[in-house]
Amino acid sequence: MAEPTPYDYGFNGDFETALPVRAAYAGASGILAALPCAVAAPRSTAAVAALLEWSSATATPIVPRGAATGMPGGNVGPGVVVDLVRHFRAPPVVDPTSSSALVECGVTPAELNRAAARHRLHFPVDPSSWERCTFGGMIANNAAGAHSVRYGATRRWVREIDLVLADGTTAHLRRGAPPPESLRPILARFHRTLDVRANVLRENWPRLRKNSSGYALLDYLTSGDPIDLIVGSEGTLAIVTSASLDLAPFPPATGLVLLEFDDLRATTDAVLTLLPLQPLTCEILDRTFLDVVRSADATSLPRLDPALEAVLLVEFDAPSPDQLPEALDQIRTAVDPFAVRAYSALRPDAVADLWRLRHAASPLISRHAGNRVSMQFIEDSVVPVSNLPDYLRGLRQILHRFDLPAVVFGHAGDGNIHVNPLVDVQSANWRDTLDAVLLEVTELVVSLGGTLSGEHGDGRLRAPALSRVWHPDIVACFQALKSAFDPVNLLNPGVILPSPGQRPFDMLRKFA
Ligand SMILES: Cc1cc2nc3c(=O)[nH]c(=O)nc-3n(C[C@H](O)[C@H](O)[C@H](O)COP(=O)(O)OP(=O)(O)OC[C@H]3O[C@@H](n4cnc5c(N)ncnc54)[C@H](O)[C@@H]3O)c2cc1C
Repeated sequence: MAEPTPYDYGFNGDFETALPVRAAYAGASGILAALPCAVAAPRSTAAVAALLEWSSATATPIVPRGAATGMPGGNVGPGVVVDLVRHFRAPPVVDPTSSSALVECGVTPAELNRAAARHRLHFPVDPSSWERCTFGGMIANNAAGAHSVRYGATRRWVREIDLVLADGTTAHLRRGAPPPESLRPILARFHRTLDVRANVLRENWPRLRKNSSGYALLDYLTSGDPIDLIVGSEGTLAIVTSASLDLAPFPPATGLVLLEFDDLRATTDAVLTLLPLQPLTCEILDRTFLDVVRSADATSLPRLDPALEAVLLVEFDAPSPDQLPEALDQIRTAVDPFAVRAYSALRPDAVADLWRLRHAASPLISRHAGNRVSMQFIEDSVVPVSNLPDYLRGLRQILHRFDLPAVVFGHAGDGNIHVNPLVDVQSANWRDTLDAVLLEVTELVVSLGGTLSGEHGDGRLRAPALSRVWHPDIVACFQALKSAFDPVNLLNPGVILPSPGQRPFDMLRKFA
């Protein structure tokens, strides 16, 4: 019997992939799309290594891809798309004694959590896409979620990584261990640029609770750990094939409180007062979101006063169910000067009822959009929490000026706001509107000390804005890092760092 080839889809050194297969990989969850020149689904790490060796030898760009739920187009491109799900999803191995798990890059957090729950453990970073997205994509984007205000983003939970470098060399990284031999010359090259700019970098790094824009150089300077360079690198430095992750115990008892506000400054003051109490979530639903909920006539959702500016959903925990009322009192006392009303839920069914308001978002937005299209292109900005009112007010002004309705919500506790503008794709100049709004929002975010991505990454969409957001010396360090790891620029070119002449909407998929 013939040996199985190391790749699906006919890719075998000299490749050809059928058009229908390539077309199936052209799109993703975000607004960008591109027909790849080929698709490879490697069956093993050795096959990934051979593919990258071949890519180096032939100067063929590579687009690593997980579940393609990423928003800013890091998962699409004209090179060879590498499907890292199909053959990289062996059942996760949970080790309860060390509270850790070994996962292949195609495993989803939902799959890991089902395995870890048997040991009363979980991976506590919870993107809303948790049933579909993969750890390869989460590590690449430093993904986060509603509970990141307590647990941080993916980075904090990554212990070890197996990866393949641009030239096909494999490496294993472990936190606290010296870098492997294969990485030393790469890091030495990078340090020639980094070391002379380290102070400028520290001084000019945005002071944020969460960030997925650029490369995580401040984390790297602090830890000295190359894992911090790989996490958040969006497939531009290496392909991750597996990882060892820390797990957390479940909180023994949780409750939820819904807080109503008639003023954005008061909402933010409440957030700042709550942060020292370490809530599990601190989610904001802006009045644009509340309007959608009201107009949807969804009677099963809580009734909301039309005068509200925002609502916060604050989840908290206690060492036992008996101690939940005490924890709730603490929260209510803290927010008393700011909130107009509070509704609390201490039983799991009541908690689930309140959460329905937040989870109603996606279906309600699609219903509300009518003939317009919900387009995520300014969907992930992050600012210092104290600047949230200025960001939300500035954002509303920009959207109003461009006659662009939008639904706004997000992770207030981390200063990370999701915006779903509803674009009229029948109007003559809607593409110009996208360019202008992106530019103005970028300027607003920069003026408030933020970046364009708290958790989704820069991708291709935000790469052209990189030098508007980041200090020139930091951009020089980003470039030095990329060329040290990937001197010929073959791993996801145009992602994080733009290609010459690249514009945000170059690969916009068809809408009209
Ligand atoms: C409905 C919905 C809700 C979402 N909610 C959240 C949320 O709450 N929080 C959040 O952070 N994100 C969220 N996202 C965005 C997305 O789910 C995350 O960014 C996720 O981490 C992407 O994972 P993926 O497997 O789909 O990766 P992909 O989209 O396939 O890829 C994303 C990036 O990772 C790179 N990549 C993928 N696999 C590898 C690998 N093995 N090695 C190296 N690079 C790789 C790709 O090149 C690309 O740059 C949401 C998306 C959707 C559609």
